[in-house]
Amino acid sequence: MRLGVAAAVVGGVLVRGDVEIADGCVAAVGVPGAGAGLAVPGLVDLQVNGYAGVDVLDAEPAELLEMGRALARDGVLWYQPTLITAPLEKTLDALQAVGRALESPSPARILGAHLEGPFLSPDRAGAHPPALLRAPDADLLEAYLAAGPVTMVTVAPELDGALELVETLAARGIVVSLGHTNANAALAREAFDRGAASVTHLFNAMRQFHHRDPGIVGAALTRQDVVVQLIADGVHVDPEAVLAAWHVARGRLVLVSDAIAAAGGGDGTTLLGGIAVTVAGGVARTADGELAGGVFPLSAGLRLLLELDVPLVEAVDAVTGAPARLLGRTDVGVLAVGAPADLVVVDDGGEVERVYAGGELVA
Ligand code: ZN
Repeated sequence: MRLGVAAAVVGGVLVRGDVEIADGCVAAVGVPGAGAGLAVPGLVDLQVNGYAGVDVLDAEPAELLEMGRALARDGVLWYQPTLITAPLEKTLDALQAVGRALESPSPARILGAHLEGPFLSPDRAGAHPPALLRAPDADLLEAYLAAGPVTMVTVAPELDGALELVETLAARGIVVSLGHTNANAALAREAFDRGAASVTHLFNAMRQFHHRDPGIVGAALTRQDVVVQLIADGVHVDPEAVLAAWHVARGRLVLVSDAIAAAGGGDGTTLLGGIAVTVAGGVARTADGELAGGVFPLSAGLRLLLELDVPLVEAVDAVTGAPARLLGRTDVGVLAVGAPADLVVVDDGGEVERVYAGGELVA
């Protein structure tokens, strides 16, 4: 079967021509023939709190799989269910559900859970309930890690014991991302030196950049070994700031949706980790007025980068290869001859037109 596309992004290179699929895998690229649209790898979203009516913290495995089908229809074929800070039992239950769902076949595969709390700064709690935040605690961490497949933990490095926690997680191959933090640049650099590899939603819920106090934002942007995650929904970060971050962090910029249950559902009220959230005009806020996650699919970030004239292959990398590399997954977010045909056909503006998982059309 041929996709009928004009080109494909293959290993970070634009290859003109059609894509041929056979036995669920990509059989050939650069196949002669006129077509329209562009084949890109399936998208990879590292921060999904919910989607299509499902709140990850409250979801049974079957609901997570339903959520995965909705993500796949919007082009996301790999994702990290993300848990904001919640009561311990609730988080442990959710991690167990993620572990069970991970073992089930699904067009959108779970990479592992992103534990976004509770080791966060009360000064930068955002939508996380401040009363539930905790200082780093080895026993508590073990309880989380035993409950489910945690692949990423967001940590505020200024908390007592945080730097030791960073080392423990990094030694176990779990990605540490700094976030919900008031850390200055020196402290952020120390945490990066001790194993933190990324920052969670750059600019949001962290000390702000100032030219005499560049903070964690400055440290993350200037360190070439740090992966910068950014919510590129056009709401959390102004497009000019998205563009500035891209210029500084080319090749290590990762877009996330930070999607919540309301994503794809329009305006109204919803839940994020059990917290009531109101969505109006594409902006989700808690009753206190804090931004409370995104309501747009990850492909909106791809479209935004293209509108900002970011080169196509780099824009695609920010939603495919770059997030996969952060997790050390070379088998994810790639379009390659011989690999499973997990890919998305987008139009010139990055709008998702068709999605294939293992060569099967899912949307
Ligand atoms: Zn957050």
